[in-house]
Amino acid sequence: KLQGTGTRTMPFTPDSLTRVIAVTSGKGGVGKSTLTANLAVALAARGLRVGLLDADVHGFSIPGLLGLAGVKPTRVGEMILPPVAFGVKVISIGMFLDDTSAAVAWRGPMLHRTINQFLTDVYFGDLDVLLLDLPPGTGDVAISIGQLLPHAEVLVVTTPQPAAADVAERSGVVARQTGQSVFGVIENMAGLAQPDGTVLELFGSGGGAEVASRLGVPLLARIPLSVPLREGGDTGSPIVLSDPDDAAAAAILGVADAL
Ligand code: ADP
Repeated sequence: KLQGTGTRTMPFTPDSLTRVIAVTSGKGGVGKSTLTANLAVALAARGLRVGLLDADVHGFSIPGLLGLAGVKPTRVGEMILPPVAFGVKVISIGMFLDDTSAAVAWRGPMLHRTINQFLTDVYFGDLDVLLLDLPPGTGDVAISIGQLLPHAEVLVVTTPQPAAADVAERSGVVARQTGQSVFGVIENMAGLAQPDGTVLELFGSGGGAEVASRLGVPLLARIPLSVPLREGGDTGSPIVLSDPDDAAAAAILGVADAL
């Protein structure tokens, strides 16, 4: 259903004024989409013009995280107008599927074409920052983004676990091989605060610092496990707005300030 003539040119070239930030992880389930959605909303709340492209074609979850489940983009001729949530212009492959439970089993060339089409035919207008939620790992989409947006800056999300850190490092290395720079590492699920004031290191500790040191980039934040963060995702209400005093929200807002 995505079809265009390819008559428009891709606006996010290296000489454009839009910063492109791609969020990646070594494996799924580390909170990459949750953090990307909250970061986008935090940046928009700072007054920036923000676009968010959900390129996690196999596991798109951005629409739900931002309260856009079931919302379709508007079309004007060849152009696709992205829905807006919390000031963020959002586009996701999930918006083009009739049934959100439909499996997306596309192969490399089709993924590449779809991402390219998102970048050209979606009318974002002038943006200060375009955030990309990449699929986990070092697959076809990551490589396509490297080719299409070589100036993208990459944020690597990992959990504190050593095994997660190994695969996270690999996604940073692949980003560099395609010419992108790694901006920093975010450690998520970094401990759960207990009522007695201690912290339960549910997933161990040190993974984020390890990846950051191996890649030679800063560890931007250690984001704790947070029930409100998870609930905000489930209800499409990002906690950086609804519960900014939550420790996880505060840590995400800190990352937004560091970008
Ligand atoms: P990914 O995009 O890496 O696959 P998600 O953002 O979908 O991961 O997060 C996976 C699950 O973990 C979701 O249910 C999400 O709500 C939850 N989650 C993510 N980060 C946290 C956190 N810091 N505390 C509690 N739950 C979290």
